[in-house]
Amino acid sequence: MTITCYWCGAPKTSKEHVPPRCLFPKTKDAPQLGNQRKNLIKVPSCNIHNCEKSGDDEYLMCILSVNILNNALAETHVKSKILRALKRSPRLMAACFGTHQDIAVSEDGGKALQPTAAVKIDDARLERCLEHMARALFFHKYGSRHEGSVRCTPEFVVAITGPDAIERNAQYEEFRRACDQAFEHQPKEGQNPGVFFYQFHPDPPDQMAALLRMTFYEGAKATAVFCAQQNAQADAG
Ligand SMILES: [Zn+2]
Repeated sequence: MTITCYWCGAPKTSKEHVPPRCLFPKTKDAPQLGNQRKNLIKVPSCNIHNCEKSGDDEYLMCILSVNILNNALAETHVKSKILRALKRSPRLMAACFGTHQDIAVSEDGGKALQPTAAVKIDDARLERCLEHMARALFFHKYGSRHEGSVRCTPEFVVAITGPDAIERNAQYEEFRRACDQAFEHQPKEGQNPGVFFYQFHPDPPDQMAALLRMTFYEGAKATAVFCAQQNAQADAG
C-alpha cells in the first residue's frame, strides 16, 4: 500500500513533524526542563505540504513563542534557539518583527501598564501554518485525511489600530471565552504539554466534522473548525 500525504493524498516523500520540531526546545538549551522533544508526532507528507520545506515553521515558531501569556519555557526558548535563528536570518527577523510597535498593556485588567511590543501578523501565512498543523493532527488522530475545508482562528491577536479596534477586541475576547468554555473539561493530548497540547472536542456541532483547539506554551491558542463534507462541496460550488 502506498503511504500518502496527510493533506492531499499524493505519495509520501517525507515526514512532517506536527507541530514543527523547532517549537520544542532542545535539551542542550534548557537542561533544567528535561527532554521536551519526547514522542513528537509525525505524519507522512508530500513536499508541498511539508511546513519545514516551505520555511513557514520558523515563522510560526517566532510568532507563537513571543506571546505575552506564554509560560517560562517559551521565554527560555526565545532566549536561545529563537535569538540564534533571528541573528542568522535577517529575512526571518524582518518577516516577524519588522513592523513591531511599542505598546503598553495591562496583564491583569488593572491600571498598571507594562511596556511591551506588538507585531503585525501576516494573517495568511499564520493561518496556513495553523491549517497544516490542524490537518496533520486530524490525520494523526483519526487515521485519514480530512477532505473538507478547515478554518483556523488564532486566539492571540489584538487590534491596536483602526476606528473599530475596541469592538474587534470585544469580539476576540468573546470568542476566547467561548473557546475556554467549550474546551475547559476536554482531555489534553500531547507528550510535552508545556510546549504543546491539543484537544479534539468529543461532541462537535452538527455542521462540523471535528473541532480542535491547539495550545502552545500554555498561552498562545488557536482553534480549528473542520467543515463537514457537504459544506465543503457547497463552498467549492
Ligand atoms: Zn500533500
